[in-house]
Amino acid sequence: MGDPHPNGTLVGILGGGQLARMLAQAATTLGVRTRVLDPHPVCSASFVCEQVVGAYDDPDALDQLARGCDAVTYEFENVPVASVERLATRVPVHPTPEALRVAQDRLNERALFAELGVATPAFERVDSIADLGRAIASVGTPCLLKARRLGYDGKGQFLISSPADAPAAWDAIGRAPAILDAFVPFERELSVIAVRSRTGEVRCWPITQNVHRGGILRFSRAPASNVSDAVRAQAEGAARAVLDKLDHVGVLAVEFFQVGAGDGATLVANELAPRVHNSGHWTIEGARTSQFENHLRAVLGMPLGDTSLARPSAMVNCIGDLPRPGAAAATPGAVVHDYQKSPRPGRKVGHVTITADTEPELDERVERFTRVVG
Ligand code: AMP
Repeated sequence: MGDPHPNGTLVGILGGGQLARMLAQAATTLGVRTRVLDPHPVCSASFVCEQVVGAYDDPDALDQLARGCDAVTYEFENVPVASVERLATRVPVHPTPEALRVAQDRLNERALFAELGVATPAFERVDSIADLGRAIASVGTPCLLKARRLGYDGKGQFLISSPADAPAAWDAIGRAPAILDAFVPFERELSVIAVRSRTGEVRCWPITQNVHRGGILRFSRAPASNVSDAVRAQAEGAARAVLDKLDHVGVLAVEFFQVGAGDGATLVANELAPRVHNSGHWTIEGARTSQFENHLRAVLGMPLGDTSLARPSAMVNCIGDLPRPGAAAATPGAVVHDYQKSPRPGRKVGHVTITADTEPELDERVERFTRVVG
């Protein structure tokens, strides 16, 4: 057998989870092939594309991933920067190592937002239990202690209700460098998913409304209901500023808390993700071009696709297990995405997208689905 990829475009992806899987699925519609690097011999993406099995810091595995690739990207931000730098000497890597450095550390993220004039929750840097005591006095209670690195889906976080919680909070996050966030009494959570091309063109999808429980995204709806022009402009302006500052190529998500309602509504930015994002999964069925397809278009230097809404859409994450067979079939407009991951409590194993012709019809379908699933 000769080279398995004699022709055609090939994209390498660091990480083989569901985000890589959906990138690989979108790639097929562009006639693009994909290869993932993941340490686990069976991963979500391995069912739909080629896989190199190896550690993210294994030079041989990185070289195997890069061989013949036109571009390399990644599906999660906690890949070692050194690995991305090594890959970048051989093949274009998007987003840049700089975007990773920012997104891997909550303090860097907040510093970037501050530099760009993007409002965030009040917060303090915490490097010791003594810092924590001072920070609680400064931001007040309730507040959230968040590890600066390797936190996602609510991991590495502790809600502090009173100063007496400080030792337990410090232990819970592993006594790691952290930030202490004032608790934001938000109306709702919103995110903006945006994409930037190699030529600097930026497009945003409609603002998405999100519901988290236990720090994990449970539900998204697009478009978010009743978004004022001011809120939309604030969200899109923040995303554009970050994208341009990082010279980012590909998809990037910014998550916000909306404080206040109606004309008085404003946003504070909580965090960013320099990659395709869970709150953008609805774009597969609900937008003219999905976040996955546009990410690939961007990293390959292709023209960006239309990000406008095709149909009002909602996304329900399947945490721990998929809905029982038939539950989605009983809901018109519902599509199940099974990530082919083994069920485990707290694990994202799939999602269901529900679409409709109108927003009221969407809300009615979501309610029906929720009732059926129980
Ligand atoms: P994060 O890991 O920062 O995305 O936080 C996960 C979820 O925890 C958020 O989506 C919110 O629901 C909640 N959360 C995080 N930070 C705050 C905050 N400062 N105030 C209120 N809720 C928060």
